[in-house]
Amino acid sequence: MKRRKFLQNASLSTLGIVAASGVAACKSDKDSPKKDSKVLVNAAKPLVIATWRVPNATAKAWEVLQNGGSSLDAVEQGCMVEEADVKNSSVGKGGLPDRDGNVTLDACIMDKNGDYGAVMCVQNITHVISLARKVMEDTPHVIMVGEGAEQFAYSQGFKKENLLTDSSKKAWEKWKKTSKYKPIINIENHDTIGMLAIDENGDISGACTTSGLAYKMAGRVGDSPVIGSGLFIDNEIGGCTATGMGEEVLKTVGAFLVVELMRHGKSPQAACEEAINRIVKKAGDRYKDFQVGLIAVNKQGETGAYCIHEWFNYNVYANGENKNYKSDFYNKA
Ligand code: ASP
Repeated sequence: MKRRKFLQNASLSTLGIVAASGVAACKSDKDSPKKDSKVLVNAAKPLVIATWRVPNATAKAWEVLQNGGSSLDAVEQGCMVEEADVKNSSVGKGGLPDRDGNVTLDACIMDKNGDYGAVMCVQNITHVISLARKVMEDTPHVIMVGEGAEQFAYSQGFKKENLLTDSSKKAWEKWKKTSKYKPIINIENHDTIGMLAIDENGDISGACTTSGLAYKMAGRVGDSPVIGSGLFIDNEIGGCTATGMGEEVLKTVGAFLVVELMRHGKSPQAACEEAINRIVKKAGDRYKDFQVGLIAVNKQGETGAYCIHEWFNYNVYANGENKNYKSDFYNKA
């Protein structure tokens, strides 16, 4: 799949916000039967799982694990691959800007001890996942935002960079001309990356990094950097990360919900399905207007993935193989 047609998000259409990435994430494709979509990786450790088609990112994370690195190092370095990829218009450098033309990034990271660090609405720094880790490890805080986070980054030796690439700028200028703050259907093949890893000690960590919704209102933050929503890890149980319409994931504390469901005995797949069902139920008829995708792994190295409407891609690196899969999905119709 080279490019994907995104669905329009009606609920945010009045604001003119465009589904940049995971928002209308799942793809309609009659050649992709549901029966092929489910995958269970049984008791695979070490293991890396990430949202979307991100083989380079999972390969990097796998390499770190193979060299004896921790799951925390693996998810950080895996996510950095996408942050540096200017062709990925939903993450890091090259991410699509907000409606004022500013690229603002969100990221968080969580480790085996349940420690967590996040940055929100940060400009001019490519590797916000590493900045989130710095917040976690080198400050007494867990979240830093905006200008303060940016200044902290410089104090830690991060480089100031212009994140708005020519092609993102062109896309934004085109959007401004044609959209009149009405959304366009956005197509792109890369998305917010949420990554979970289990290392050879069986310890789980996770990371999530994004530029959020394209052309969002200035200051908007989605689920991705929020503990329990875009990402949650409990090293005794497992982990989950989300992609899609952050506003909906936030309202259900999606990733935490999945981990808690696993704690109560559900498999990662069943837990993702239950959480998506809950999001759909809460949304009522609005569920047609947005997308959410969840991936999860438990302590045994079993995986799950589920979304709304149509499948979405995710990558698993396990047993020495780097593979892309299509999730199962909820579709009432
Ligand atoms: N969840 C992200 C957000 O709402 C978007 C995405 O997954 O692409 O900011």
